[in-house]
Amino acid sequence: MSIIKQADFIQSVADALQYISYYHPEDYIQALGEAYRLEESPAAKDAMAQILTNSRMCAEGKRPICQDTGIVVVFVKVGMNARFESNLTLEEMVNEGVRRAYLLPENKLRASIVDDPAGVRKNTKDNTPAVTHVQMVQGDTIEVTVAAKGGGSENKSMLAMLNPNDSIVDWVLEVVPTMGAGWCPPGMLGIGIGGSAEKAMILAKESLMQPIDMHELKARGAQNKLEELRIEIYEKVNNLGIGAQGLGGLTTVLDVKILDYPTHSASLPVAIIPNCAATRHVHFVLDGSGVAELTPPDITRYPDVHWSPSPHARRVNLDTITKAETASWQVGETLLLSGKLLTGRDAAHKRIARMLEKGEKLPVDFSNRFIYYVGPVDAVRDEAVGPAGPTTATRMDSYSQVMLDTGLIGMIGKAERGDAAITEIAKHQAVYLTAIGGAAYLVSKAIKKSHVVAFEDLGMEAIYEFEVVDMPVTVAVSAQGDSVHTSGPEEWRKKIEQHKVINVVNVS
Ligand code: SF4
Repeated sequence: MSIIKQADFIQSVADALQYISYYHPEDYIQALGEAYRLEESPAAKDAMAQILTNSRMCAEGKRPICQDTGIVVVFVKVGMNARFESNLTLEEMVNEGVRRAYLLPENKLRASIVDDPAGVRKNTKDNTPAVTHVQMVQGDTIEVTVAAKGGGSENKSMLAMLNPNDSIVDWVLEVVPTMGAGWCPPGMLGIGIGGSAEKAMILAKESLMQPIDMHELKARGAQNKLEELRIEIYEKVNNLGIGAQGLGGLTTVLDVKILDYPTHSASLPVAIIPNCAATRHVHFVLDGSGVAELTPPDITRYPDVHWSPSPHARRVNLDTITKAETASWQVGETLLLSGKLLTGRDAAHKRIARMLEKGEKLPVDFSNRFIYYVGPVDAVRDEAVGPAGPTTATRMDSYSQVMLDTGLIGMIGKAERGDAAITEIAKHQAVYLTAIGGAAYLVSKAIKKSHVVAFEDLGMEAIYEFEVVDMPVTVAVSAQGDSVHTSGPEEWRKKIEQHKVINVVNVS
């Protein structure tokens, strides 16, 4: 019988969370490097270059891959012959590991978890509690898989209770385009089939903990029904042309994972959970000999990709910008922003809207300003700000009119905008720009100064003013109301259909 000490379990969880905050799994990096090599869409290729470059920088600098350092999900398989030497419950030990990792001074991670989710939504400040799944298995070791799941990708999860004769592939192909790009593709789709409603969801999540092996699978050929399904979904989803960040391109998913379980004869539960560019998970086994050892990846094996701003990008001075200038920007165009930028996301928008409703004066003048939807990681060492990538813009859609009425002329976020928001943007002759989700550390290097200008009590959701130099963004919605997230995927779907490009799915 092995005896697992409380201190070893807690430290192993904490080490694992620090590890995955700055090291991508090697299989993800290699698969993304290959997709980058094959990508023909310039916008998607540029996005992948930023994600790959960001990944290397994070591994070298030991700083988070993404500003959203995730909700912690832990799968624990407890051997029936193992024993814990602990005065805490298993969940309490996991949470202590989370607390220790997220508050580590050298690499403090963003606390994103809120208590009372249907009420005041108060931040718990240390990213606890985790979501812990426990299974009793044969053996005398404790197997642990630790993941940190981004909110943007988790928000796109879906469950359907299909009829037994319905097509799973048809359902997935119906659902994926509705997910937009807020899940920061390219990533993976985790699919759970069978069991009950909650079992299908857990299977979908657990399937994402497996390594990416689609190219190996295609090379050896499917050997059972689930492998056939994986390949079929992988090919058909990529043929949608959604591409990296939804900009249109050849690779939307690097792999499709499926786990299944017997189900009721009247049911076909199917769950889908996407994993984003910040794919973060690691597995370790405790056998009583001490803290888990996690081997750092060999950075020399990372793809040889080093993003730098395009010489053709338009340079923009945010301090002198006018609507006459923004009106000439075309969707898909790359800009390098310099000057002062305001920030704000969900909580700040809610408060602004409430203040305006009550006729109160806002603490910030938004006239002729740009707002960046971001909740940054706290700075360490000499940083102006920690990793500070964009958050999903659609969550701010319902505030578009209110915000644009204040005189705001542009917004920066990630992924598409909804139809009503696009209408407001065109009506106000404003613009919407995107930065790359999953390239947060790279983006933060463009931020030279940062200070809070309002709503300090909201923590990372406060309104900051950033001073940026050459911050890379793409014009996603023009002043005329054109959207790159509509035109990009349309263009690439047609090209793939007409075989004008050799899709990655045909190469193994
Ligand atoms: S890559 Fe995108 S979805 Fe994933 S954690 Fe970062 S912002 Fe969220």
